[in-house]
Amino acid sequence: MILPINIYSDDILRQKAKPLKGVDSDIEELIASMFESMRNASGIGLAAPQVGRSIRLLVLDLACVDNYEHEKPMVVINPHLLAVRGNNEMEEGCLSVPGVKGYVTRPSVITLKYRDEHFEERTGEFSGMAARALQHEIDHLDGTLFVDRMEKRDRKKIQKELATLTSGVVDADYPVVPRDVAAITKNS
Ligand code: ZN
Repeated sequence: MILPINIYSDDILRQKAKPLKGVDSDIEELIASMFESMRNASGIGLAAPQVGRSIRLLVLDLACVDNYEHEKPMVVINPHLLAVRGNNEMEEGCLSVPGVKGYVTRPSVITLKYRDEHFEERTGEFSGMAARALQHEIDHLDGTLFVDRMEKRDRKKIQKELATLTSGVVDADYPVVPRDVAAITKNS
């Protein structure tokens, strides 16, 4: 099922998501819907808070990125960064911040402990686009958006776009959670 995506100013994107205790049929269904929603929006990563669930779960599929065609889709639950090294700057975008792109500096190599779709514990080292996308999605689980990590000078240039998103005017070619619905969810 294609789920609508929460946009920039929605409260759920600013919350610290809760760890999962296991994978049941509800979560299996959510994972399938997250992959479907992400691909429908031509995204390479999606975190559960972006589809209205404040839990520590994200999906990733880099197969549409050049040189990553053979990369398998990933389900990441309860991730913990064990180590980081290096640094690089890359341009990022986000399905929750449509129409906005910006350069962000992040560690270039990460060691990650997480649980997979079977809730089996795994540890892996990731670099390149995988390290980049994983850190972007893990940020979502802590209520952080990539625009928060942009340099002040660059952020100033996108203030207008962010204000437009906050006002509820969203130009995206995938379903999004309308502003009034986000407000109702916030108050209930
Ligand atoms: Zn994002």
